[in-house]
Amino acid sequence: MPSEPRMFTAQVVRTQRVSPSFQRVTIASGDLCGFDWRGLDHWFRLFFPVRPGGELRLPEVKGRQWWQSYLDIPEADRPHCSNYTVAEYRCAGEVAELDIDVVLHWHEGELSGVARWAVHAEPDSPAGLLDQGVLFDPPSDAEEFVLVSDESGLPAVRGILRDLPSHAVGTAIIEVPAADDVHPVTAPTGMRIQWVARGASDPVGHRALSVLRDCAGKHPGAYAFVVGESRLATQGRRTLHQAGVPKSRITFSGFWRA
Ligand SMILES: Cc1cc2nc3c(=O)[nH]c(=O)nc-3n(C[C@H](O)[C@H](O)[C@H](O)COP(=O)(O)OP(=O)(O)OC[C@H]3O[C@@H](n4cnc5c(N)ncnc54)[C@H](O)[C@@H]3O)c2cc1C
Repeated sequence: MPSEPRMFTAQVVRTQRVSPSFQRVTIASGDLCGFDWRGLDHWFRLFFPVRPGGELRLPEVKGRQWWQSYLDIPEADRPHCSNYTVAEYRCAGEVAELDIDVVLHWHEGELSGVARWAVHAEPDSPAGLLDQGVLFDPPSDAEEFVLVSDESGLPAVRGILRDLPSHAVGTAIIEVPAADDVHPVTAPTGMRIQWVARGASDPVGHRALSVLRDCAGKHPGAYAFVVGESRLATQGRRTLHQAGVPKSRITFSGFWRA
């Protein structure tokens, strides 16, 4: 994480459905040209006005402090804030574009939270991004990798696969809600990609954990990265540790809670 994380502002350029469970929102600005994109699972805090057409009021950032300033914004004007991964970043000339792949989730039949913004965001509507850096942190001797995620961690795992050294070996287990969410990814030839589509009655992460239990013992020297629904993250870490992977070689993070 940067010691002096920067806030960037940008505007929505377009939004498109890329698969049954993902909406890709592209934002752009001149300011984003200064974003120091490190690839991998580089993530950020995303801010946008709660009311469509509303003004974007952003918290003040001093060093790593911003939360109190965020809470100090009167509730009616306080922007929505959630964590997202840079799916892709392109800087051309004086404008940079950044893609965000947002998982669509529903509550009582209605699109909920960021998913609603992602689908309905109007071109030119404002967004803020607070740079948070990269979670993926392998030890220098790591050549074998185990990556595990649900759909919320797919942009992170896809970014890691894209940016791993070409000699990397290991396994990536990616659970998605629907078979049509599966798509080609760029990865070193030594990385085995195991997509798992969730069954209608499966709890999130259940199938990914089952695949992980079958293969965890084959990678005791690996560095592991396990993210997604919080139970997948904690159970995944436990499974790997019980199979011989030291805790110091596992990065795990609950990205959301079912
Ligand atoms: C480092 C990091 C990177 C992340 N990157 C991405 C990313 O690139 N793309 C992405 O889509 N998510 C990503 N997430 C997860 C995202 O931050 C959460 O899903 C977040 O809760 C979404 O905010 P919300 O306002 O939509 O829902 P919230 O207001 O947090 O929750 C509202 C309701 O929605 C449910 N909910 C939240 N997320 C999901 C989900 N994914 N599936 C089903 N139900 C859900 C909650 O259980 C709750 O009931 C990332 C999280 C972290 C920590």
